[in-house]
Amino acid sequence: MTFKELGLADPILKALQAEGYTNPTPIQVQAIPILLKGKDLLGVAQTGTGKTAAFGIPILQHLYNSQNGQKGKRRIKALIVTPTRELAIQIGESLAAYGKFTGLRNTVIFGGVKQGKQVKTLRNGVDILVATPGRLLDLTNQGFISFRDLEFVVLDEADHMLDMGFIHDIKKIIAKLPPKRQSLFFSATMPKDIVALSRKILGDYERVTIKPKQATAEKVEQGVYFVSKSNKPKLMVHLLQGRPDDSVLVFSRTKHGADKIVKKLRQADIGSAAIHGNKSQNARQKALGDFKDGKLKVLIATDIAARGIDVEELSLVINYDLPNVSETYVHRIGRTGRASASGIALSFCDLEERPYLRDIEKLIKQEVPRMPEHQFVDSEDEVETRTPQKQQRSHNSNRNRNRNQHRNSNSNGSQNRNRNRSRNRN
Ligand code: AMP
Repeated sequence: MTFKELGLADPILKALQAEGYTNPTPIQVQAIPILLKGKDLLGVAQTGTGKTAAFGIPILQHLYNSQNGQKGKRRIKALIVTPTRELAIQIGESLAAYGKFTGLRNTVIFGGVKQGKQVKTLRNGVDILVATPGRLLDLTNQGFISFRDLEFVVLDEADHMLDMGFIHDIKKIIAKLPPKRQSLFFSATMPKDIVALSRKILGDYERVTIKPKQATAEKVEQGVYFVSKSNKPKLMVHLLQGRPDDSVLVFSRTKHGADKIVKKLRQADIGSAAIHGNKSQNARQKALGDFKDGKLKVLIATDIAARGIDVEELSLVINYDLPNVSETYVHRIGRTGRASASGIALSFCDLEERPYLRDIEKLIKQEVPRMPEHQFVDSEDEVETRTPQKQQRSHNSNRNRNRNQHRNSNSNGSQNRNRNRSRNRN
């Protein structure tokens, strides 16, 4: 299947050729015809599958075909709502690239920065608006954005949006949408609350599912090191010193942990930066920019901050901590081995994390290859070999404890906390 066979207009074909895209990805093959027909779409897919082009190209094509002889100020006809500013910026860049020969204009708005410049661009008129929820509502309530002319609405990374506590903002946004529109809803996972949310926005829709497992795990060379918590920094320094030229993305479960890793690496003269929700907008953009340009070789990120990272030359992902949600592992390793490139994902696993490793292996239906013995094995690891049964019991009780903690933190009204955190982030 080629882009031409999908029936795309010449200016878009030309732009895709300039981007070096030869063939559509699976989600593009499935979603583009549905969207060109004018139907609503439920896309179960994550970033990295080519979903931005899957929804962006048909929207550009519709707007391009309908702009003949359009006079006067441009009005917002397509709205894309996405959870983080990194994702918003990336979507804006992709739309600008795919639409560069169409004459259509897009802009991106997000919180954490002054609104003046964003308002000025909106006043000049745009065809497509990419926005994070908080700033979108703010500027709409101030009267700088009108939904009246909207023809297309995309809700991107819906599960992530809910995780970040945006549900109320999203409901308010949905309530303001004009009834006659084409709606697109994307989510990497489809738990019950996401299904319910999708019903609020979608009309008569078609569903496309692209499993990240197939898209990523097979292409990525994986390995796991058994290492105690206290020895993780040493192993990390050792690995990075052996790969001075690689662009390495390191995942930390917590913001505090990410900062600690930066400190440890600094002590070993390895330059790195952390990106997470407590960092200022400028610090995050700078770190990401330096990483993309190759000036910074090591970037430490939390899962949420990493969602918007799209770096083509990323050759190595290190899971400094294993995630307790197995799907997150698949998302993380999908940061390397994107599009057609292949990559390596190495994980550090301490005793408490062994149950997580078992859950991950169950999900990806393969054993993560064990890396050879290294000099940082310590007594903690040896204890396990001596008393496997006792250890197993303690793993299980740890796992239950962690699960309960997770459940409690989800159910004890943490939404407000999440919401505040998200606002800081946005
Ligand atoms: P996305 O899922 O939209 O974040 O896209 C992931 C990456 O795949 C981005 O770097 C895109 O530029 C790239 N990409 C999207 N579609 C194609 C395609 N058809 N051929 C090659 N690369 C693509």
